[in-house]
Amino acid sequence: MPIDATAPYDDNNIFAKILRGEIPNKTVYEDEWALAFHDINPQAPTHVLVIPKGRYVSWDDFTRDGSDAEIAGFIKAVGIVARDLGLPAPGYRLLANIGGHGHQEVPHLHVHIFGGKQMGMMLPR
Ligand code: AMP
Repeated sequence: MPIDATAPYDDNNIFAKILRGEIPNKTVYEDEWALAFHDINPQAPTHVLVIPKGRYVSWDDFTRDGSDAEIAGFIKAVGIVARDLGLPAPGYRLLANIGGHGHQEVPHLHVHIFGGKQMGMMLPR
């Protein structure tokens, strides 16, 4: 079920548990601002999620309430991860789902990195 991106942050969400080390993950990168790990149900040959370390539900509250350092650190981490994965030359896709119409399912901001194949058109028509 898609979440309400305007709801308060839920410390019991699955990515909060991953950040606290309560649930295992396949980490590909970690720094002060972000953690990146393989999606448990990959939808492309490369499918990695990058999440901020802070308590943010979605891109909405992150860009409203996040500090400049958190936002810069997180966005830089997304680029670092994509480069570490060798994706810039062939190309890749970033996706952040937000709330109901975005079909966001986990209420902790995450950016999907998809790569390793031709992604095709942006949305089904
Ligand atoms: P979204 O629809 O944008 O909220 O995407 C949530 C993503 O989280 C989906 O692609 C899931 O496969 C992924 N996911 C859910 N639980 C886990 C987990 N424990 N470890 C890694 N990825 C997960």
